[in-house]
Amino acid sequence: MELMYQSTRSGQVKVTASQAILKGLADDGGLFVPESIPQLDVSLEAISKMSYKETAYEVMKLFLTDFTEAELKNCIEKAYDKKFDTGEIVPLTEKEGVYYLELFHGATIAFKDMALSILPHLLTTSAKKNNIKNEIVILTATSGDTGKAALAGFADVDGTRIIVFYPKNGVSKIQEKQMVTQKGSNTSVIGITGNFDDAQSGVKAMFNNKKLAEVMNSHGYQFSSANSINIGRLVPQVVYYVYAYSRLLADGVIKDGEKINFVVPTGNFGNILAAYYAKNMGVPVNKLICASNENKVLFDFFETGIYDKNRDFILTSSPSMDILISSNLERLIYKIAGEDADATSQMMNLLTSQGKYEITPDMKEKMNCFIGGWADEEKTAVEIKTVYNNTGYVLDTHTAVASAVYRDYRQKTNDLSVTVIASTASPYKFGTSVMSAIDEKYKGIDDFALIDELSKLSHTNIPKAISEIRKADILHNTVCDTKDMQKEVEKILKL
Ligand SMILES: *Cc1c(COP(=O)(O)O)cnc(C)c1O
Repeated sequence: MELMYQSTRSGQVKVTASQAILKGLADDGGLFVPESIPQLDVSLEAISKMSYKETAYEVMKLFLTDFTEAELKNCIEKAYDKKFDTGEIVPLTEKEGVYYLELFHGATIAFKDMALSILPHLLTTSAKKNNIKNEIVILTATSGDTGKAALAGFADVDGTRIIVFYPKNGVSKIQEKQMVTQKGSNTSVIGITGNFDDAQSGVKAMFNNKKLAEVMNSHGYQFSSANSINIGRLVPQVVYYVYAYSRLLADGVIKDGEKINFVVPTGNFGNILAAYYAKNMGVPVNKLICASNENKVLFDFFETGIYDKNRDFILTSSPSMDILISSNLERLIYKIAGEDADATSQMMNLLTSQGKYEITPDMKEKMNCFIGGWADEEKTAVEIKTVYNNTGYVLDTHTAVASAVYRDYRQKTNDLSVTVIASTASPYKFGTSVMSAIDEKYKGIDDFALIDELSKLSHTNIPKAISEIRKADILHNTVCDTKDMQKEVEKILKL
């Protein structure tokens, strides 16, 4: 039976998985959700004998029911290959009795690779299935991690082009170098003189420009989006939660049916929502612990039932979690509202008009498997140092937020459930923050200068993603004014 998708803001329109992937966002502004979350149809015991790719197939086939077995397996083969520096794809590393699920072994050493290495293949397959002849142009605004992961994923994928805009003075040195050295004849990277919000607004304006869409179409192009609200990014993320459980089972750490906790460093609520979907599919989960940095909108939400983004935006050492509007939370709201699209719409409208909404006590009760926590900059730095001193293992700043939140949680609750922390980035990506947390003497030294030192101190090899950009040629050096973003796109596509 075909699993259909509908918008969180209206129950009327139903689309197939491939159509939802192509569209990204529903026309009414809502997010696509499956009509119901499918149940695993093989036992976790059986999955515990499978590889990552086999697990990916077992999970994804239940969501993407209009893909044939051959199509889906082909996408999985192309995604989880030698781009990952370990055959396990997502190793589980135990330190001090806690399990770190390392999601950073892909091409750009952040967890975005888990979904963005497969999305291009899901998208091109979806285009074929729906008889779309146009070349798909991915337009992305990035504050750092997403841009590079999307570039790496789409580079040289037939039938696609990717154009990334980033704030010229708003990303880290390593992040910029990662992007401007990107190879692939279908890739373009452009710095803008404005900030991330300007880049985001410019991209949105192009998406909504009907005249531009017509011109594009007459030249054989159409836009699509690779951002984290695309169901094609959510579904691949469910896989590693199922896989992590099955690994613990295979290693005899847990018994079949034993509940575990997942702790997830959270920004846009995509990663932890995938864990919630895994739980709904049948993975035995006790608590989903949502870890925030000082931008603790979600912590307050889980405490009070009030989502309130009216507050200062704080720049932290975990920039990928510096977010005040967690887009994917809308999918949880829809679920706990009893799949009521009107109620969801109302709350999302309040978020737009007043920056704030409140859920009912009944809804709050339905999300009691979530626990919110947060760590400030000081606590995050202390966590990096503590884990390093106790074990020699070096956490990145995002993972450290989660690790600190979990340390607190365990002390407070004495919950002894086996716990997996989603480790979302390699420490090499945030070298300065990580190294100065371990030793003050590294303060103020730039990321590149600390790479060798970090390698020595952590006894790990410098990831290819870092070593190759050190000496790589700059291939993209266009910088434009915010108001000229569309002109740049027209130039690239020769419109
Ligand atoms: C994107 C990102 C996050 C946040 O993930 P969400 O799915 O947006 O909640 C956390 N850590 C790192 C390193 C990231 O790149």
